[in-house]
Parts: sequence; C-alpha cells; structure tokens
Amino acid sequence: EAKKNGRNQFRLFSDPMNQRVVERLALETEMRFSLENNEFVLDYQPLVELSTGRVRGVEALVRWQNPKRGLMMPDSFLPVAEKSGLIIPLGFWVLEESCRQIKLWEKQGMSVERVAVNLSARQMWEENIVDSVADIISKTGCRCDQIELELTETVLMSSVEKTVKILSHLAELGIEVSMDDFGTGYSSLYYLRNLPFHIIKVDKSFVDDLPQDAGSVSLISSIIAFAHGLGKKTVVEGIETQQQLECVHSLGGDVAQGYYFARPMNPQKIGKLLASGPTPFSHMLPK
Ligand code: C2E
Ligand code: MG
Ligand code: MG
Ligand code: MG
Repeated sequence: EAKKNGRNQFRLFSDPMNQRVVERLALETEMRFSLENNEFVLDYQPLVELSTGRVRGVEALVRWQNPKRGLMMPDSFLPVAEKSGLIIPLGFWVLEESCRQIKLWEKQGMSVERVAVNLSARQMWEENIVDSVADIISKTGCRCDQIELELTETVLMSSVEKTVKILSHLAELGIEVSMDDFGTGYSSLYYLRNLPFHIIKVDKSFVDDLPQDAGSVSLISSIIAFAHGLGKKTVVEGIETQQQLECVHSLGGDVAQGYYFARPMNPQKIGKLLASGPTPFSHMLPK
C-alpha cells in the first residue's frame, strides 16, 4: 500500500504540468512576500536624443531581488505576475518608485527630463486607471510631464474605443504615451491614425539585422517616415553597434535606446551620468 502511494506521489510531482503549477504557485507566494518586503528594484536605461546626445529620458525596468533565487529579470517573473494579478500592485509600485526617484535625483541636483514606465494590459484595464496614475504622480510631488507611459501595440489595439478614452484623458493631464514594441503586433493603420499617443518605439527585431539587411533598412525607414507623417516621434530600441546607430541616425530616427549607449543601470550610475554634463552621449554620435 505504501509503495503504491509513494508511486502516486512521485507521479504527481514529476508530471511536467503539475510541476509547472507548483512552481508558479511558489513564485506567486514569494512575489507577495517580496512586494511587502521591498525586494523589487528598478534599473533605468537612457533614451538618447540623436540630434544632440542628450538624455531625453530613462526607461524604468523592474528587477526582482529574490532572496532564494537571486536577481531575476522581468521575462522570468512577469508572466506569473500577470496571471496572478500581482502585476497590478507591482505596476503601481514601479510608478511610485519612479516618481520617488525623480524627486531624489532632483534633490541631488540632477534632473532627468522624464521616466518612462511600462504599463501592462491588466493595469490598463483597471477601473480608474487614469486617476490612480495621476494620484501617484501628484502625491509624490512630480509633474505629469515627468512620467511617460509605455503600452504595447497589442494592448492599445485590443479595445480601441476604451483606449481612445484613456489616452485622451492622459493627454489632458499632460502624460505622454509610447507605443512599445511597435511592429510586433497587429496594428490597424486606421486606428493608428486616430489613437492619441505620442511616440512610436520601434521594436529591436527591426534593428538586429541592420545595416546589411536591405529589408530591415527599408522597414525602419518606412516606419520612421510613417511616424513623422502622423506627427509622432520615434524611439528605436535595441541599438547595439556603431553601424546600427549610423544607419538609424541617417534614416532620421529621433531617439535611440540600446546597449551601445548604455545598459539599464542603477539610480546611482544614472545620477553620475546625468551629472557628467548636458549631452553625455554627443561624442558617440555620427558626424
Ligand atoms: P521593453 O519595455 O521593450 O524594454 C526593453 C528591454 O530591452 C529591456 O529588457 C532592456 O534591458 C532590453 N534592451 C535594451 N537595449 C537593448 C539592447 O541593445 N540589446 C538587447 N539585447 N536588449 C536591450 P528587460 O529589462 O529584460 O525587460 C523586458 C521586458 O519586460 C520589457 O521590454 C517590458 O515589456 C517588461 N517590463 C520591464 N519592466 C516592467 C515593468 O515595470 N512593468 C511592466 N508591465 N513590464 C515591464
Ligand atoms: Mg518598454
Ligand atoms: Mg520596448
Ligand atoms: Mg521591446
């Protein structure tokens, strides 16, 4: 009898599907604990204005200092956060922490023009999302134009009527919105024209094969022209080499983000960068 039970138990935990469930529940429990114990941290990655080398802003990127598992990157825990709904308190924490950091940099005599914060689908569809965002910004003493929200193309396109209302309300408050990972979802050109957002972030996948791949060059060039035609600015993500930078620069991209300029960094390092002068990346730009 004992042997039989033993075998059943073995099967319960060796079944890959059950194992995944057990693992997800464990992560979820740890995540609740970590939210209460301040074990998430933010790194910030510069967004570089290509005409000047100025830091036009930084993107806040969440990391989890998991006491058992070590430092975890978003791709390894955001799916669990999404599924469990914990992305909502986590997402609000990211916004509030970004605002606190803005004030801290200010206090130290360094100003970052704005911080871009990623907003998940679950957050976007929370009731009163705009009020919640505005409340956090004002309670920390920041101005709305110091925060930019990044939403993916898929989220923005999934319920256009609701999206238009939310984006219009955000725009009234002075909060700009970027369409993140542009080109990886399915955008309707019609809706793109009518959605009140401000910035198109061109996904890294279009940059990877620059400059050799003529197809990629043509796509990036078209996206930039298209964005400008709609009166929107472009941020090109994932620039890793001088050649990619030269290409995007020559095609008229407005802003670039990528390891070539800087990896995501802790607030102290960003502070040093900001303190080093008004255009810390100008020496890296093509002539
Ligand atoms: P994302 O919003 O598209 O952010 C850019 C990601 O690309 C970051 O990865 C960044 O480190 C990485 N990256 C930037 N430049 C380069 C480059 O030159 N080469 C390469 N290979 N990668 C580059 P990270 O920090 O791992 O974040 C991954 C994704 O997780 C983000 O993609 C975003 O969708 C999500 N995420 C991160 N933080 C948050 C958050 O606070 N809330 C929400 N909802 N999502 C977040
Ligand atoms: Mg983003
Ligand atoms: Mg992105
Ligand atoms: Mg991306």
